[in-house]
Amino acid sequence: MLAAATLISIVSIFLPAESRGGLGAAFSLERPGSERSAAPCVSPALRARLAALDTSSGPSGNPKQFAAPPLVPFFPIGGAIDGDTFLAGFVDVDPAPLAVQDYSCHGFAYDGHRGHDAPLRSFAQQAIGIPVFAIRDGVVALAQDGFPDENVFPGVDDGNYLILDHGDGTQSWYFHLKKHSVAFATAQSVAAGQQVGLAASSGYSFAPHLHFEVQQNGQAYEPFAGLCDHGASGFAKQPRLALETKLLDFGVTTTDLATVPGLPQPWPTDAQIGFADTNQFFWAQGVNLPPNSTYRFRFVRPDQSLEWETPHWPLANPGHWRTFGVWFWFSILGMQSIPGTWTVELEFNGVEVASVPVEVVAVTDPNFNRPPAPIAVALDPASPSPGEVTFCRVATSLVLDDLDLDLVRYRYQWKVNGQVVRDNVFAGHADALPRDAFAIGDTVACTVTPNDGSVDGPSATASAIAQREGFTNLGLGKYSKWDVPCFEGVSTLLPGAIGSFTLAQARPNALALLMIGLGQGNVPLIGGTLVPFPVALTLTLATDANGSLAFPFVWPAGVPSGFSFYAQYWIADPAATAGASASNGIRGTTP
Ligand SMILES: [Zn+2]
Repeated sequence: MLAAATLISIVSIFLPAESRGGLGAAFSLERPGSERSAAPCVSPALRARLAALDTSSGPSGNPKQFAAPPLVPFFPIGGAIDGDTFLAGFVDVDPAPLAVQDYSCHGFAYDGHRGHDAPLRSFAQQAIGIPVFAIRDGVVALAQDGFPDENVFPGVDDGNYLILDHGDGTQSWYFHLKKHSVAFATAQSVAAGQQVGLAASSGYSFAPHLHFEVQQNGQAYEPFAGLCDHGASGFAKQPRLALETKLLDFGVTTTDLATVPGLPQPWPTDAQIGFADTNQFFWAQGVNLPPNSTYRFRFVRPDQSLEWETPHWPLANPGHWRTFGVWFWFSILGMQSIPGTWTVELEFNGVEVASVPVEVVAVTDPNFNRPPAPIAVALDPASPSPGEVTFCRVATSLVLDDLDLDLVRYRYQWKVNGQVVRDNVFAGHADALPRDAFAIGDTVACTVTPNDGSVDGPSATASAIAQREGFTNLGLGKYSKWDVPCFEGVSTLLPGAIGSFTLAQARPNALALLMIGLGQGNVPLIGGTLVPFPVALTLTLATDANGSLAFPFVWPAGVPSGFSFYAQYWIADPAATAGASASNGIRGTTP
């Protein structure tokens, strides 16, 4: 042994010094089949106990048919789906034992899984807090709290959870909540949009995530509609299925990442690399890594010349990884002598996923820190309406939200007519205000201040005067392959009000029929549901190259108060069954 070690050290002395490094480890954040089938988020014993207390009293029958309004008006987490969180796992729609299939015919589920899993990036985000909101009004059928919440293997207890009974035969389940965060007790009433808890990893859980599940008449229900789960979508606006490779976070550190636990424990970051730091470590977490992916690093000096680029090296992932973590070590020669702002670029499969400035200095300053990057803030909907849940959404980069790659948290301060009504610090990119937190004519404002743990970045504010929104989303869209076109009606429906019927997430450059009727027929039609029936008016329109269209209108005078009508887009679409997809339906009612 001694001889071999001596030989290596002698050889390395005579080798020309050069940059080197490569993959440390790459891993899927899903568990292998044998582990996950044993732990489908809710323990079998708990599920049996919960089934016994099902109090649903709604209409019986096919679980894919339900009464309006839509089962799921929004995904109930304080984050952005396809942003800082993600839908990693769906309902397993294949009842056969060990067979796994999701609504989109992929395997993004666990065997027997009955809900949707929205992961947090790490326990660091969990510690700061990511809120979970009630989707609709309800009464707590069962809630419990007080159990450990950082499980990386299923806990021996049931964890912390809350189950809401909506009184119409449907329930919504919120599982794995943070210890002491469950905000309501059994039998208490909850309004749509109220915070029911914080997302965590209690109970049957491997990593911090929200398990959200909807049930109808005691049966789990998949509100997503797609090629492998026919019927109408249960979402007011069904989130699109994300299949692109994307990073959720990226970091640079001088800590040897082989010596730290790693995800779901947060990986470290450093704001500077010193000449004495002969090894540099880079980590990334992301989504949708296709089988047998490759990576490439490029190290660009402060003067923009190239120091070194690696070949396209394998990540050695045999299957599609829905969510993954990966880390790399490098010893970059120029980083030991050339100070300034370097650029480190990472590609997966030849496509750049990160381009990050890295500060290299002769001697590191432990107090070096820069504030978080500026953010943009928007209200969702843009015109808040008293009956609806209002979201405040942050737009920022997932990688460059902070130049030092620090973890950013956000203070969400809501004001109604200048009075603070809700004020919290969360790690996610959204917060919500419950329904009826304000009245028509009130000024609703959300001010968000990012903070990296020691200094604030610039605040941003979104505000609007609350209006009566004339439209309600009814759901019942018909999928095109995986995604359901989204229809939004925006107008107060006051005489002379300007409004629009906008369509998004539809087939590009396609014929779109806007159908309007005076009744909600919910008539079965070529595998979908025709919401307006009988149809009184049809307008022939077309989507643009993005699959969107906007149809503006001015609401006429003289329409009586309380008048209702229904509208829906049907789109010519070869990817949909019977050659047509359909948006959600909407109802307009005049004030
Ligand atoms: Zn789950």
